[in-house]
Amino acid sequence: MKILVTGGAGYIGSHTCVQLIDKGWQPVILDSLVNSKVSVLDRIESITGHRPPFIKGDVRDADLLSKLLSEHSVEAVIHFAGLKAVGESVAQPLRYYDNNVHGSVVLMQAMQKCAVKTLVFSSSATVYGHAFAPPWNEQVPTAPANPYGRSKLMVDQIMGDMAAADAACSMTSLRYFNPVGAHASGLMGEDPQGTPNNLMPYLAQVAVGRLEALQIYGTDYDTPDGTGVRDYIHVTDLAQGHIAALAYAHGQPGHHVFNLGSGQGHSVMDMLKAFGKACGRELPYTLSPRRPGDVAAYWANPQHARNTLGWHAEKSIDDMCQDTWRWQSSNPNGYL
Ligand code: NAD
Ligand code: UDP
Repeated sequence: MKILVTGGAGYIGSHTCVQLIDKGWQPVILDSLVNSKVSVLDRIESITGHRPPFIKGDVRDADLLSKLLSEHSVEAVIHFAGLKAVGESVAQPLRYYDNNVHGSVVLMQAMQKCAVKTLVFSSSATVYGHAFAPPWNEQVPTAPANPYGRSKLMVDQIMGDMAAADAACSMTSLRYFNPVGAHASGLMGEDPQGTPNNLMPYLAQVAVGRLEALQIYGTDYDTPDGTGVRDYIHVTDLAQGHIAALAYAHGQPGHHVFNLGSGQGHSVMDMLKAFGKACGRELPYTLSPRRPGDVAAYWANPQHARNTLGWHAEKSIDDMCQDTWRWQSSNPNGYL
């Protein structure tokens, strides 16, 4: 199967391309490189022995998309391309709606024109309302709290409308919880530009000496150790979830929504300790006030994906930290 992977040079997309190739499917990558580097292709090639076709371009370029879909005889699309920084989305909402929502509409229009019926989309647990007690299943009411989350929900809803309008359309929204970790080879991992906003890349940069100390945002939450609790999922488990979703959804019309999470919550303190174990020293940290907008605790109920896709996350937080450390220590400055 030939699969267009938008955003395939990014963190989750690159790990998914490796597994698509392992499965014998053929990814074609479209990426603007707004948040990634082309050298990731060398790493994909080193790991798999195959260099997927790469097109540098924007998902909002309708002519390019139609050309790509037809010239490569694409049968399905996995759509990772998007901007993902919550704080930035608050400051620049139009940029986020244009990239994430308009980009997805242009993609679906091109798919319609070229009769490509299967779409798998990177949605997010940020679409859920935060007032609900975890674990969260797919029926938790949606109430995103920022433009980034709203952009994801809008695309989910458009996909639902598309599936309702065309009985042959297969639209799958995958709601990721907290993707972390790296390829076990140490050749691929997360490479954020600037100072990381997220816990795991921040810890990795403290461990490698690029940052001084972790700031723990909030120690007075109603959680076992007072720090925030999240559902961390290893990026290769997440990539495997895409393979399972595509295998299920291709030729299965409708709008399918799946949580992809481990089903377990871990605190900031748990992650700090696990990373210290992985890198062989206790990492420095300071106690800081809560970060505005954060909630105490949430994690997934991933039962629907387990029952329907036969998929579940297998890797532990120790695996996540060891693999992140292998990647970060052998690539201290990320991709070149
Ligand atoms: P990433 O930034 O590493 O990857 C996204 C890729 O899309 C980048 O390579 C970027 O250059 C590309 N891109 C962005 N806009 C584009 C455009 N208009 N045209 C073409 N390419 C474009 O991010 P990631 O962590 O791999 O996330 C992938 C997807 O998963 C995103 O849509 C993100 O919102 C979603 N997601 C991520 C997380 C997370 O915590 N990492 C959680 C939930 C959902
Ligand atoms: N966090 C922290 N210090 C940091 C970054 C994050 O204490 O430098 C905490 C954050 O408050 C939350 C958890 O780590 O409880 C996960 O945050 P992240 O930004 O990685 O993901 P989120 O779930 O907020 O999208």
